[in-house]
Amino acid sequence: MMKIKAMTTGFVLLGVVGLLLLTASCAMDPVSGRPTLMLLSEDKEVQMGRQTDQQVVRQYGLYKDAKLAAYIDDLGQRLAKVSHRPELSYNFKVLDVAVVNAFAVPGGYVYMTRGILAHLNSEAELAGVMGHEIGHITARHSAEQYSKAMLANIGLAAGMILAPSLQGLGSVVQVGVSALFLKFSRDNEREADSLGVEYANRVDYDGGQMANFFETLERMNPGSDRTGLPAWFSTHPNPEDREAAVRGYAKKWQEKLDQKDPKIERERYLRQIDGIVYGEDPRQGYVENNVFYHPGLTFLFPVPSEWKVVNTPAQVQILSPKKDAVILFSMVSGTSPKETASSFVQKSQARVIQADAIRVHGLSAYRLISDVGTQSGVVRAMSYFIQKDKYIYVFHGISSPSLFGDYQAAFGDTMGGFKHLSDRNRINVRPDRIGVRTAERSATVRNALLSLGVPEKDIEKTALLNGKTADERIPANTLLKIVERGR
Ligand SMILES: [Zn+2]
Repeated sequence: MMKIKAMTTGFVLLGVVGLLLLTASCAMDPVSGRPTLMLLSEDKEVQMGRQTDQQVVRQYGLYKDAKLAAYIDDLGQRLAKVSHRPELSYNFKVLDVAVVNAFAVPGGYVYMTRGILAHLNSEAELAGVMGHEIGHITARHSAEQYSKAMLANIGLAAGMILAPSLQGLGSVVQVGVSALFLKFSRDNEREADSLGVEYANRVDYDGGQMANFFETLERMNPGSDRTGLPAWFSTHPNPEDREAAVRGYAKKWQEKLDQKDPKIERERYLRQIDGIVYGEDPRQGYVENNVFYHPGLTFLFPVPSEWKVVNTPAQVQILSPKKDAVILFSMVSGTSPKETASSFVQKSQARVIQADAIRVHGLSAYRLISDVGTQSGVVRAMSYFIQKDKYIYVFHGISSPSLFGDYQAAFGDTMGGFKHLSDRNRINVRPDRIGVRTAERSATVRNALLSLGVPEKDIEKTALLNGKTADERIPANTLLKIVERGR
């Protein structure tokens, strides 16, 4: 909930897939050279990529670091040029999310999270992973995935304003983006690994270094983050003997390309990510003791206990434990609470049951209770439109009409609890960051980290973050990542 987007209602449409027309055609697989049945022409693929990109950026937000973005783009463009589809126009972006993942969407869009960048340990590992994602595009895995997702979603997404089914509310609210995260098959993964190594080696890196990253990930096994973006292994399943296979591909390409000493560039890489935000960034909103705080926009509101909060740049979703009710929270630019409410009623064709101008902790507001028709029936919504500073903050608490009585109090407590945040300590929170330090003497990783001030309890984790074990010996003047605590 950091970026400001002009939306006319809080019901965010995430339905890219449904906007596109299906055209089946027979295309050549650029990697294998074999014809494949493709529901997408290249034009459509690129058009879809562009639309999806807008959604991805709105949903997850870009990490604001122009130097890092340029560095990632530069490496990406070099890899793309030696790929099997060099004519595509590629875009490489760093997303401002903590989760460790990377993904590609059709048409040449590749995303790295700041989480994955914090966990990689050399330019060669980075090249392998970016090559892997480019491989999903050149082998048209994501296009095939999209074709399948589209078949499953025809008619579902285009006109959807509200979740069509309350049972699956949580997943449906995110339908457009979750379609991106269909799992690749193990065969797809094997092929993308092989292509990733090939592209990395073709630009003179040791693509086999990617295996180190997979080993680190398996040992850490990080989960998803507050945005709900899944982690690497839930979208890129491990093929058998992945690391050995990756090292094997690298050996093959080194011989084929007659490379003596392909680059690893550990130090160069670590210098690039020195200072990158690590873990959740509390400046984008955080929950503590059942209160959601937004330091940047200076507001807070209570969250019902046990409800699940998913916080993305576009929207906060708060889901009841039984997943049969949800509170959606977003901000819009509007002239007044009343006008924003009327515009919502008009757009959603809601049947208004109750409407009144109110004040919420001194802020001018408008409250609605209405029934809204969806594809699978009517839902009842309590909505608050609250003016604070330049924005109208919008809450919609939604359940079926029969359950609405059970949730009305919880909705009202959250929405009526919205207020200005004035606590300086909460406003001035700082995120954790990766700091890159020099271990001056030859030592075990444990002793080096201890001498850099890392507490004993964090030694194992920090060693892993460096792709090392605590007992491993390192030579003098080795660079090590540590986590600099914020807050
Ligand atoms: Zn993959």
